[in-house]
Amino acid sequence: MNGFTTKALHGVREPDLHRALRPPVYESVTFEFDSSADLESAFQGRKPAHTYSRITNPTVAEFEKRLTYLSGAIGTIAVSSGMASIANTILSIAGAGDNIVISPFLFGNTFSLLSSTLKRWGLEIRLADFSDTNAIEKLLDDRTRAVYLESITNPQLAVYDIPQIARIAEKYGVLVVLDNTVLTPYAFNSKSAGVHVEVLSATKYISGGGTAVGGAIIDNGTYDWSRNPHLRDDVKAFGQFCFLRRLRQDVYRNTGTCMSPHTAYLLSLGLETLALRVERSFGNALHIAEYLLERNDTNTVNYPGLKFSGSHQLAESLFGGKYGGILTFSLKNKEDCCRFMDALKIIRRATNINDNKTLIIHPASTIYCEFSPEERIKLGVPDNLLRLSAGIEDTGDLIEDIEQALKILD
Ligand code: PLP
Repeated sequence: MNGFTTKALHGVREPDLHRALRPPVYESVTFEFDSSADLESAFQGRKPAHTYSRITNPTVAEFEKRLTYLSGAIGTIAVSSGMASIANTILSIAGAGDNIVISPFLFGNTFSLLSSTLKRWGLEIRLADFSDTNAIEKLLDDRTRAVYLESITNPQLAVYDIPQIARIAEKYGVLVVLDNTVLTPYAFNSKSAGVHVEVLSATKYISGGGTAVGGAIIDNGTYDWSRNPHLRDDVKAFGQFCFLRRLRQDVYRNTGTCMSPHTAYLLSLGLETLALRVERSFGNALHIAEYLLERNDTNTVNYPGLKFSGSHQLAESLFGGKYGGILTFSLKNKEDCCRFMDALKIIRRATNINDNKTLIIHPASTIYCEFSPEERIKLGVPDNLLRLSAGIEDTGDLIEDIEQALKILD
């Protein structure tokens, strides 16, 4: 079994009492035991069993197994959102006085979590231009707990040399954490690029229909956890599973950021058609980018799939011709962006990406509104930028919609 979709459909088989092909949703908070001794064994981890759904649940476990298998990883923890996957990961590996090296080009809430929320707890953020690997290397020291990046940055659409960054981090024993939301494990296998831990917003492509908010932390099993002082003692007892164990029995359990069984059911369903939807959305993004480029009445069009794009070559070699479903373009000013958006008839004005429906947003006045105009420029989000996330509609209808909305600006 080699293909992603075959694996997604048949790779993980959960035996069911009634041989149902679609396993049931275990909407149960708790699970009973035959004896107090069994209950004690389960709590102490001597006998694997579900005890309480904030910690594990059979339906959520099935989703976790599927993602682990599809990613070639050693384990996955499903969480309540993409942001929960990032927060849980950082809280498990770093403490006050530690630092994380990041690029300023990150999803807005991630940047806010690291540079504001966790800064208040003593985490130091070190900013580097990730296209310059020497700059990253200079920032690494014995308090660096991770180099953190996105496979294609949202919304700047920058692509960095992930394997080269991973090699440098490895030299210093530093963990590499990658947010692979925009490409998904279908379009990009982070393990093969040297990434140790992958975080995902499953809300996006994995859900597809925009039906559920969820996230996942995938441990590729390639990091030597004895390099992290917060986990060093656990390595003796739990070996390569110590990070997953730290999450399950500590940070994830104690922060209560669990995924609901119903969400896990919807997301497992989403995995089965992920590859089909991703291909269609990526194709639509390329068509729209080419159309906008040809029309030449938008100031700039940014999409890694366009041959002239600064990130094209790197994206081609890293992602094998898969460039994501998001593109950005700029108009004369914010007013034109709003007029254009308001004239759209099919494309929806909404804040999500990788939905089955094509969505558009003005990032500066929404996702990045907590930052000043000067900060937004540094974060790569000018006032005249629009972000479009291509859905799976018929391409011609999307182009027609864009064309009629652009006419409003004439
Ligand atoms: N990472 C990226 C790249 C995102 O675009 C988003 C949300 O848009 C997130 C993480 C956060 O995901 P969630 O909304 O599921 O918390």
